[in-house]
Amino acid sequence: MIREDFFSELWKRERIREHLGDLVGLRFHRGLVFSLKKISRTAPFLYNAGREFALASFKSEERISLQEAIREIKEIFEKEKVGIVEIIEMGNENCKIAVRESATAHGVRAGERVCHFIAGFVAGYVEARTGLEVDVRETRCAAEGNERCEFEIFGSEASFAKFLAGEL
Ligand SMILES: [Zn+2]
Repeated sequence: MIREDFFSELWKRERIREHLGDLVGLRFHRGLVFSLKKISRTAPFLYNAGREFALASFKSEERISLQEAIREIKEIFEKEKVGIVEIIEMGNENCKIAVRESATAHGVRAGERVCHFIAGFVAGYVEARTGLEVDVRETRCAAEGNERCEFEIFGSEASFAKFLAGEL
């Protein structure tokens, strides 16, 4: 059974392994993601997993802006070697980002979008840190032959309704 604080504890220690350090090879990352994709067959499975991972890791009472949350995602993605985040457009509740050298997609020829886990992570992270429920859609993926992956982040209708009701 996974402990309640397993995910939040993951991020607290500066260094987890004494000898090897904390990065794991890209082949194992891809082996995990693509074998889960193969057996689950649906994009929402990996998206929901990524979202759950970020929510369980970063949920707190503190609230930051969408811009700040994206800046933190950029730092995490670069530190963890997930990819290089570039901001394409930034609004208060919507934004577009690109990820270069995606750990999941760079150099992969799949003919379809494959970064569902990353998209879900971004959605969960933004929700955990801003309190805003968002949907994240990968609109272009390097695995489709594009130069970089692109993601749109937009407030879900549910959060928009709450916003209008003054609850956010
Ligand atoms: Zn992608």
